[in-house]
Amino acid sequence: MNTDNLNKSKARSTDNFVLLVISGCISLGIFPFVILRVLQEDYAHAAMNAVAVFITFVLFLHAYITKKSDLTRTGLALLTVIVMTGTIFLKGAQNIHWVYPALTTTFFLLRPKFAATLTLTFLLVVLAMIWQESSPLFLLTFSITATATFLFCYAFSNRMRQQAQFLEQLATTDPLTETGNRRKLEEKLLEITQRIKRNDQLSCSLVIFDIDYFKQVNDQHGHACGDEVLKRFASVIKTRIRVTDSLYRLGGEEFVLILEDTKLFEAKSVAKQLAFEIEQTQWHLKDLRITTSAGIAEYETGESTYEWLERADEALYKAKSSGRNKCRASNENVA
Ligand code: GH3
Ligand code: MG
Ligand code: MG
Repeated sequence: MNTDNLNKSKARSTDNFVLLVISGCISLGIFPFVILRVLQEDYAHAAMNAVAVFITFVLFLHAYITKKSDLTRTGLALLTVIVMTGTIFLKGAQNIHWVYPALTTTFFLLRPKFAATLTLTFLLVVLAMIWQESSPLFLLTFSITATATFLFCYAFSNRMRQQAQFLEQLATTDPLTETGNRRKLEEKLLEITQRIKRNDQLSCSLVIFDIDYFKQVNDQHGHACGDEVLKRFASVIKTRIRVTDSLYRLGGEEFVLILEDTKLFEAKSVAKQLAFEIEQTQWHLKDLRITTSAGIAEYETGESTYEWLERADEALYKAKSSGRNKCRASNENVA
């Protein structure tokens, strides 16, 4: 496993660890109340708390065994809201303070919109339950404090989400060409190989493009001109591929195009068309002529992402050594 994948799996296990701690705390936090309610002979409440402890424990086990957190997050949020509604239903407005931790927990566990819908429904149900027994002043105070907590939680969780998306974008995009970077490519390759392992009827091909004699462009016209060519090169390819295809910058003047549901012979035809487009492109300097070589490989079940890239790279090497401005497939039988 490389460093990026290692970091990602560390981030996932930290996320899972936090969830395990929360579900563990909920179980341990509610458990004393089960005993207390039994001692008070409040069996309905004791039963509800016992069921909550049991479900939380099952969700805890699910996250621990599968290392996936989505089901546990949704389950814990729903459980929190249901148990709090039940508590207020059984005990009345004296337990209203449980609404606040329920709001923050739900926003912590779920996406902002889902959390907002769930907590808004929860607040309306709670308000309907305490309406009869509470004074107008109490209802007003509760409505104001609950609305303020709700709005703060929503704004905070929305902002956190936007920042997470922005950071994700920064970490996975090449700033010069605005294509996916190497980290994003590795994630994509891993996702595709796992999908094909589950269903070997699927196919996927990749093309490595390497601009020919790019060093001469830099040497003759300057580094800024080279950068302009890289940007334009990526944009020409991006505007001509399907939405299911994706382009990544492998490094320097090398790009990887992933063509999903595409056989080797189809991928070679696409690569040839794109190389022709590049040859025909009018660049920002009038006399500039750019060509590209390409190596193509279709994924073969069982091989690693590294081996797949390696086969495309060998094909690229053949394209270069046969004179450049050529496309070569890893399988020599494909003309
Ligand atoms: P070949 O046909 O064999 O691919 O030759 P080449 O000149 O394209 O390949 P070579 O590996 O010799 O040179 C690649 C050049 O790409 C060298 C490096 O300075 C340049 N390069 C790498 N990254 C960037 C970049 O971000 N901007 C610019 N302008 N140049 C870059
Ligand atoms: Mg190169
Ligand atoms: Mg090159």
